[in-house]
Amino acid sequence: MTDLSFDPDDDAAVRRVLLERRAEIEALVSGSKAARDAVELDQSRVGRLSRIDAIQAQEMALETDRRRTLQLQRIGSALKRLEAGEYGTCVRCGEEIDPARLTLDPAATICMDCAES
Ligand SMILES: [Zn+2]
Repeated sequence: MTDLSFDPDDDAAVRRVLLERRAEIEALVSGSKAARDAVELDQSRVGRLSRIDAIQAQEMALETDRRRTLQLQRIGSALKRLEAGEYGTCVRCGEEIDPARLTLDPAATICMDCAES
């Protein structure tokens, strides 16, 4: 688990948390790719029902991948915003994002008010 106790005002701490999280997701992505390859190898010798199971599992894996890819994009842009000195400000209204929100989601780009509207 990622240690979430960091100070959103501390650029170095934010960078560390974002990089850790990115590494975690990348590790999960390569792990699930290996699992999918194993399923494909098995398909020649499994029955129809198992194939349906395998297809459903594959669709779920694709959906998980999509979410992970999105997360990686958010983390990438959070890192860019950090380098640009724009980290922690809402991309929509320009207000400061609540540090508690950033602690929960270090890649958050909009403030609570904008997220709810
Ligand atoms: Zn906002």
